[in-house]
Amino acid sequence: MLPSPAQLAALDAADPLSAARARFRLPPGIVYLDGNSLGPLPAALPDRLAQTVASEWGDGLIRSWNDAGWIDLPVLLGAAIAPIVGAEPASVVACDSVSLNLFKLASAALALRPGRRTILMEASDFPTDAYVMQGLAQLAGVTLKRVERADLAAALDGDVALLLLTHAHYVTSQVHDMEVMSATAHKAGALTLWDLSHSAGALVVNLDADGADFAVGCGYKFLNGGPGAPAFAYMARRHWDTAQPALTGWMGHAAPFDFAADYAPASGARRLLTGTPPILAMRALEAGVATFDGIDLAAAESKSRQLVHLFAAGAATLPGVTVDAPPAVRHGAHVIIRHPEARRVMTALIARGVIGDMRPPDAMRFGFPALTTRFADIGLALEAVQAVLTSGEWREERFAPKGMVS
Ligand SMILES: *Cc1c(COP(=O)(O)O)cnc(C)c1O
Repeated sequence: MLPSPAQLAALDAADPLSAARARFRLPPGIVYLDGNSLGPLPAALPDRLAQTVASEWGDGLIRSWNDAGWIDLPVLLGAAIAPIVGAEPASVVACDSVSLNLFKLASAALALRPGRRTILMEASDFPTDAYVMQGLAQLAGVTLKRVERADLAAALDGDVALLLLTHAHYVTSQVHDMEVMSATAHKAGALTLWDLSHSAGALVVNLDADGADFAVGCGYKFLNGGPGAPAFAYMARRHWDTAQPALTGWMGHAAPFDFAADYAPASGARRLLTGTPPILAMRALEAGVATFDGIDLAAAESKSRQLVHLFAAGAATLPGVTVDAPPAVRHGAHVIIRHPEARRVMTALIARGVIGDMRPPDAMRFGFPALTTRFADIGLALEAVQAVLTSGEWREERFAPKGMVS
């Protein structure tokens, strides 16, 4: 049985986070369940961006590097992201992409563990994480070992320099216990690098307290920074003076405007910067991060968990789909329901205004960010899934796969 509209309306009325939705500009008539892949537009963003273009760039011209504080944006934005991931402000910078930051931090970890020749990661991790590590392993002449989740601890032998883990898995939504895995890695003499792409802004994260060494996270998912937003990178205070990424650019130099002949690292996380920051994208990310002002992340995690469970339970009653049961302990803010023609079914759902995404071959993924998702959305989405399945409209030619779909 699907949850009743009255039951969902009562949950919305009692939701302490319901007001946060007004911080966004969401198109009417759309049930957006893909904010875990691309966060929606923050309401304050268009004006902020227009002002940056017209005033800071147009009027200020090059003076704005100082007058508008452009040069410090990666560090200021890092400090704004830090409380969202449980880090001290100076441990985080906003820069580059998740992929690039993975490379920088993993290379720094290898350099900190010279005798060790293995990078360990989970076999089913997000593709770019594996691809970046494959390239780095080849360059550095080390081995990349990929094992199932259950075999990670046993694989932490004396040769592992780095354990790379995604905190909340992009498909299963399983969450690693950061404190336990960090301690296990450290006991084996390895360092840890956490990918927070599906955690930052969705779950309570305590990088400092849980003993993480390094972390990366995504700006365009739960942080709402816009398509291709800058990512962020974290390094724990104990590594500030010693970690040396292999990608060294002038913005990470101790004195970039001395134009010295040789590289000398800036202090702390600032050394993770490479080239000139994309200011328009940084301003957009700033507006995205600001949507978290005053938000209790424990409440956000708890609301997303409730939304996931309500949706999963409702979907499990529908014919023709199977639901990946949400992990019993802790999980991320999305859930997978499976159908052999997932792409067609999702395309038909999107035509009805219910937007999720799909991962081949048969997974439809629905995300429930706490700031924007209403309990009522669960009912609307389940009704649409039911209608698409019972009508069989997904078989129609107009829903046939064509071209590239993301
Ligand atoms: C979204 C995501 C990325 C994205 O990497 P980009 O370099 O920003 O494209 C990386 N890792 C994980 C686990 C992700 O979910």
